[in-house]
Amino acid sequence: MSESKITESKKQKKELFAESKHAALRIDAVEQAESDAFASDYMQFLNTSKTERKAAKNAITLLEQNNFRLFTPGMPLKAGDKIYVNNRNKAIIAAVIGTAPIREGVRLCAAHIDSPRMDLKQNPLYEDHELALFKTHYYGGIKKYQWTTTPLSLHGVVVLKDGTSVQVQIGESPEDPIFCVTDLLPHLAPQQMKRPAGEIIRGEELNILIGSMPFRDDEESEQVKLNVMHILHEKYGIVESDFLSAELEAVPAFPVKELGFDRSMIAGYGHDDRVCAYPALRALLDCNAPTHTAVTILTDKEETGSDGNTGLCSSYLAYFLEDLADAFGEKGRHIMHASQCLSADVNAAFDPTFPDVMESKNCAYLNHGVCVTKYTGARGKSGTSDASAEFVGTIRRLLDEQNIIWQTGELGKVDVGGGGTVAAYIANLDIDTIDVGVPVLSMHAPLEVVAKLDVYMTYRAFSAFIAS
Ligand code: MN
Ligand code: MN
Repeated sequence: MSESKITESKKQKKELFAESKHAALRIDAVEQAESDAFASDYMQFLNTSKTERKAAKNAITLLEQNNFRLFTPGMPLKAGDKIYVNNRNKAIIAAVIGTAPIREGVRLCAAHIDSPRMDLKQNPLYEDHELALFKTHYYGGIKKYQWTTTPLSLHGVVVLKDGTSVQVQIGESPEDPIFCVTDLLPHLAPQQMKRPAGEIIRGEELNILIGSMPFRDDEESEQVKLNVMHILHEKYGIVESDFLSAELEAVPAFPVKELGFDRSMIAGYGHDDRVCAYPALRALLDCNAPTHTAVTILTDKEETGSDGNTGLCSSYLAYFLEDLADAFGEKGRHIMHASQCLSADVNAAFDPTFPDVMESKNCAYLNHGVCVTKYTGARGKSGTSDASAEFVGTIRRLLDEQNIIWQTGELGKVDVGGGGTVAAYIANLDIDTIDVGVPVLSMHAPLEVVAKLDVYMTYRAFSAFIAS
């Protein structure tokens, strides 16, 4: 083949073929440094935001430090105003009012701040053969066997008989004790190992070990349980019946860490979906006087299907947008129709150890940038909102214009599995919506993995979008 023909084919390929390349090969040292700095801020947020309540609280602190004030319906609003609403301490909506008329719509970024975990049952505490344990009911989609023999901390709120709320956090400080779900030793596990993998640990076997010391050595029964109750009463003023009005969540107790010799990745609990929630929040905090009103939603209950009054199947987002519209004498539905939304959620990254579940031409890869997912769902796109070609085109143009490194993604091969996000519920409000977020390895495991460069590109994507 002649030299000129090779050159021509190279040229044509460059013009006609789509290319995807490691993000590190496409950025300069300045951007690399910005990415590293962003990652360390995010790691700090993740370490202190292991539950939806903690993430909401930390978000409010950051919002107030940046001059956002609590919005009440009827409050007059003008361009540049920064507001937020707190939905029951579990979900937050924050906004910066734009210079364009509100009827031109808003730019929404919607992430969730709940993550898979184990919740204590309402009557959790029991003693069995001189050990004290908590009964749990797991929250969200987990592989139950992953949650045994992993250090656990306990977070949440207990509402006492008199109505007082007591905040509980044990297992996060270096001097704190931890808890764990025990597992069977391999020597005695031949029968257990014959169970199907989904049942190697059954739901009712996710019991958390919390004590072994009796209150005192007399003849009374349940002395170990009594001793635990005694400690809880001394520390928090709790009696056993107070568990009935409590929300206590067991989550991995270990801190988030850099991963790899090159420190290019972040390993931690709860990336899904704080790895999108934090960039969405930061994008809003860093946004001044946008054209369109910029809105960030940090929602709860995504992992259990978005039902409930703090999940996005409820009307709290629509009501907020209606209140915004009212402030300018407009109709909520007209605002929604003109609005655009990035459903800010993670997607699965290609794992070389498990290549068979992915279709390599359409899945997301670590370090290939923020992942744009046109549709989610399962079995023939069931349960998806499927963004239009026009809206994908708009987002694609925006990302390319700003030199933001992005890739497309699909949650596994057709008919292998699937899953959804809040995108469908927001699109159901007549809002143009598309999934945009960070690719994750080991999603929903106690230790999830993301790449720093993808997190940074996600922040840049959200920033560009709310400024558009
Ligand atoms: Mn998610
Ligand atoms: Mn999830």
